[in-house]
Amino acid sequence: MSIARSAPPINIRGIAKRFGSVPVLSDLDLDVASGEFLTLLGPSGSGKTTLLMILAGFVRANAGSIDIGGEEVITKPPHKRNIGMVFQNYALFPHMNVFHNIAFPLKQRRTSAAETAERVERVLDLVQLQGLADRRVDQLSGGQRQRVALARAIVFEPRIVLMDEPLSALDKGLREHMQIELRSLHRRLGMTTVYVTHDQREAITMSDRIAVMNKGRIEQLDQPETLYARPRTKFVAGFIGESNFIPVECRDGSVWYAGKKVHTASPSPPSGRHLLVVRPERVRLAVDAGLVADARPGANANILDATVRDIVYQGDSFICYANLADGQQIALRDYCRSDVLARLPVAGQPVRLRVDAEDAILVADET
Ligand code: ADP
Ligand code: MG
Repeated sequence: MSIARSAPPINIRGIAKRFGSVPVLSDLDLDVASGEFLTLLGPSGSGKTTLLMILAGFVRANAGSIDIGGEEVITKPPHKRNIGMVFQNYALFPHMNVFHNIAFPLKQRRTSAAETAERVERVLDLVQLQGLADRRVDQLSGGQRQRVALARAIVFEPRIVLMDEPLSALDKGLREHMQIELRSLHRRLGMTTVYVTHDQREAITMSDRIAVMNKGRIEQLDQPETLYARPRTKFVAGFIGESNFIPVECRDGSVWYAGKKVHTASPSPPSGRHLLVVRPERVRLAVDAGLVADARPGANANILDATVRDIVYQGDSFICYANLADGQQIALRDYCRSDVLARLPVAGQPVRLRVDAEDAILVADET
């Protein structure tokens, strides 16, 4: 079972959706590459499920087009789109056994009994539910039900699979295990996959690319590494990972904070107020003279005077909360390595912080 070579790309153009007078999706474009694992990531209500339902054909858009592998599908009913779908609540038949649940889409397609038996067998192997074909679904654990839903979505070898928060009902350990399993299944089968989650860590773990959604629009679409290192908006920086936001002033193509020029790798912004985004693990603590010298101020590092407010120990790492000279708060995080712990400052102690230019990201100060 490998569909990599025939997995079609999806091209979405100008999709708009209103419920009553409320716009839920606005002029949305999205291209999913052949065989790609793309995740729609966004807070509750940002339109992820609606977009997935429009892709699957269960909800009609008010405008726009969807091209799958060179074919316009916007007017086709769901069962003619050859799409496998895993819903948030699994939508299994609780009174039916595993075999009949998985065989359901084959029955709809009038597959012969012999071929149905063979395909169900194969897909049970794939999701590691061998020997459970006769078990009733309501006698399965959450993780097993999730696998049945997945098996049902792929048993007819769809070339596109859509998944709407398929792991959200599982507890943390199983969820993380299934993230790795789903990803390796995708690598083996190679179907074009659109995955929905509101969990940024899950999105980063699983995806080739992530589309960050906010209020019915895609704010940024990038590989996980790029989204994390180069968020383009305050929303994206705040939604993915942790961030310090420091208000800065842009004048004459330079960036200023507290009377000093800020070194940043971001392109020069228009004049006005902006925000500097700095990830906590990218702030270095420079308590002793050696480290400060190491920072080579003036070259490409920003050196900030600060006073430690609190240190929070978290086992593997710690967070240090400090105030900059003007009272602006800043957090930094580091691992509890012995060399770091040996010179950890205490509350009230003055310290110097270093932020390299490449770790100082400018975004617009939209409020
Ligand atoms: P998400 O999956 O990102 O949480 P949804 O696509 O479910 O977001 O919902 C987006 C917005 O559309 C929400 O404000 C929601 O209340 C609204 N919505 C979704 N489905 C319907 C519907 N059938 N009728 C009216 N409003 C809806
Ligand atoms: Mg949803």
